[in-house]
Amino acid sequence: MEPLGNKIKKIRLEKDLKQSALHPNQSAIAQIEGGKNKKPSPTTIQTIAQSLEMTMEELVKDTDWKAPESMVEEGKYGYSELDFDLKILEDGKIEIQFRQYPRYDSNGLENKYCPTTSSRLLFECKKCKKPIASNKQIFCMGCGEKVFQSAGFKTMDEYFNKFNWSDYGLEKRIAHQKSLRSINPFDEILAEELAMEHQTNFDIEKDKTWIFAQTINNQSKLEWLISFLQIDSLTLYNYDDFRSFKPEYLLQRISEDRDKREVVIIDFEGINSWLSITKEEDRILDFDDYCKGIKAKNERIYNFHVNMEFQEKLYQKMADELKRRLNYTKDNLIALNEEEE
Ligand SMILES: [Zn+2]
Repeated sequence: MEPLGNKIKKIRLEKDLKQSALHPNQSAIAQIEGGKNKKPSPTTIQTIAQSLEMTMEELVKDTDWKAPESMVEEGKYGYSELDFDLKILEDGKIEIQFRQYPRYDSNGLENKYCPTTSSRLLFECKKCKKPIASNKQIFCMGCGEKVFQSAGFKTMDEYFNKFNWSDYGLEKRIAHQKSLRSINPFDEILAEELAMEHQTNFDIEKDKTWIFAQTINNQSKLEWLISFLQIDSLTLYNYDDFRSFKPEYLLQRISEDRDKREVVIIDFEGINSWLSITKEEDRILDFDDYCKGIKAKNERIYNFHVNMEFQEKLYQKMADELKRRLNYTKDNLIALNEEEE
């Protein structure tokens, strides 16, 4: 095991660099190379490695340096707000589990972003900053606020209730979605499917509430539900039939016609009334930051997009779960028919 300081000095001299070229604090390098500081922090080593044009892993390999144990073994995790597993149980209960990632890698460097969605990892309550203990936690133990994004319903029946699902209500939704889809650029394929499915007859029972236990055994209702969940997933940013506040859509409109920028921005400012923002200081006016989506710098804009993306994924994952159920139901029907023959 070579002392880390020796290795740094050797590579530095090979590259003909001064100590001050490795780190803004030259005396820190002198102490490390001289063996006075045997435990430099992971971030210091990372800076040195970058200056030597190598990775931190390459630099610490075969040396006596070890990542501080407290960081590796603290057992702390960061949670992704946008990467989660969703299950719909037999009784309609919806289970959501957010993925967790170790806070520090084996070299003690902090993991900051979710590797699949690029959202910031959540380590602590957004409100009171108390660390999150597990992904099973619903409320913060420090302030009682919800720690993770939440669906707003815990079972499929609650979902039906929240959105007033009834046979009759469904007919009205079909009419509304048909008017929406002619303008929204994001759901053309789905809309075509919807229009096709609309040809089939649906039994209208005015104000009869949907119940999950009945729906899962009714193929046509299940198919309707799946197509609506997918459309909901794609049209969340829609204010009305004519306006979408999805960043891609706003940017697309501008790229089509540069002169349109001002018109699009005036339209964008309407987002404040859509979000029912009345206080001047709460208004979202930074168009460019807004259009960065979850890369936005402003905390409120970031949280807004994270919530929207969460809901997009939520509805899509619910649809996927029900699709599995639908195939299962179809297979069962085929098996039943075969038995009869
Ligand atoms: Zn809290």
